[in-house]
Amino acid sequence: MDSLDAFARGKLDALEAGSLRRRLVPTERGIGAAAARRGRALVSFSCNDYLGLSHHPRVIAAAQEAAAKHGAGAGGSRLVTGDHPYLGALETRLARHKGLDAALVFGSGYLANLGITPALAGRGDLVLLDALSHACMWAGARLSGARVVTFRHNDPGDLADRLAEHRADHECALVLTERVFSMDGDRAPLADILGVAEAFDAWTLVDDAHGIGVVEDGPRAPLEMGTLSKALGSYGGYLCASRPVVDLMTSRARSFVYTTGLPPASAAAALQALAILEAEPARRARPLALARRFTARLGLPEAESAVVPVLVGEAQAALDISEALEEAGFLVVAIRPPTVPAGTARLRVAFSAAHEEAQVDALAAAVAALTGRA
Ligand SMILES: *Cc1c(COP(=O)(O)O)cnc(C)c1O
Repeated sequence: MDSLDAFARGKLDALEAGSLRRRLVPTERGIGAAAARRGRALVSFSCNDYLGLSHHPRVIAAAQEAAAKHGAGAGGSRLVTGDHPYLGALETRLARHKGLDAALVFGSGYLANLGITPALAGRGDLVLLDALSHACMWAGARLSGARVVTFRHNDPGDLADRLAEHRADHECALVLTERVFSMDGDRAPLADILGVAEAFDAWTLVDDAHGIGVVEDGPRAPLEMGTLSKALGSYGGYLCASRPVVDLMTSRARSFVYTTGLPPASAAAALQALAILEAEPARRARPLALARRFTARLGLPEAESAVVPVLVGEAQAALDISEALEEAGFLVVAIRPPTVPAGTARLRVAFSAAHEEAQVDALAAAVAALTGRA
């Protein structure tokens, strides 16, 4: 199909011209924060494995044992034959961890957000979305068919204005935000957002992908979703909520109903990781402490989470700095539009309990030299 290939090439050329083409780079992750790329050993500051649990011996053993006993795959949708015992055990533990009644595990965090919003809102309803929300929250909102309105990032006053403007014309209203924003590392003012939402009888869904295991203080939303693939070191997604809401999702969330259940190994690994996370407060405190060490060294605003953005501006400049860091032995990926707004390309630095202080200090010195902050 010549026209098809010509179409793809044309699109790729345009991406290339804007330094926006993406390429896969084979990466071998090792113990701790080790990673190898193109044959070079690196210290990774780009993994979301905030607690270093993806390589924890007990987490790996749990995955191996689950696969040996129950197979490599779930064998079907959870509503057919895929509801293996690790899923129910994981849901009980997640709900208890979050202090909510019930939980439902999805195939991934992305799939959770694709399913949750359309199960609660549709035509005639209203979805209010923080302007910096993750791509999968946007996708769920659009898929729902509800009216989608954004409010200014982390601005409860703007949310109140939008609700005052639109709430009365819609039957149900849903507010979507994140406990920790994935590309900025800042935290939502949740007490204020929840207060505003409640005043307008709007339900709040908080995406906790980057919060769990790292920053968990503050109020709970009635809908708390997240991923098993970051601090929990495994793969999969979840929603914690009341029993009736979880029961509704079990019947109505299409990205839950019409897809295969999470493999036994992934569920067992996440369950073991959650147990370790709960038992080891010192491990949980470390990523934020290291992130603050880094921001202090560079004179950046104090880190609010394990994620620290170092803004560069243009995509090519961010790529150049990332490449220079790689030559110095650090893996720090450049984040470009459309993942972040145009003109805000950045280095996204992610800290892990597995990092050593000396590694953080060495990265800070290298970043200072390359960005003219030294
Ligand atoms: C990573 C991420 C997701 C998606 O989770 P996966 O399990 O990787 O699909 C959802 N929301 C936010 C904010 C994320 O950063």
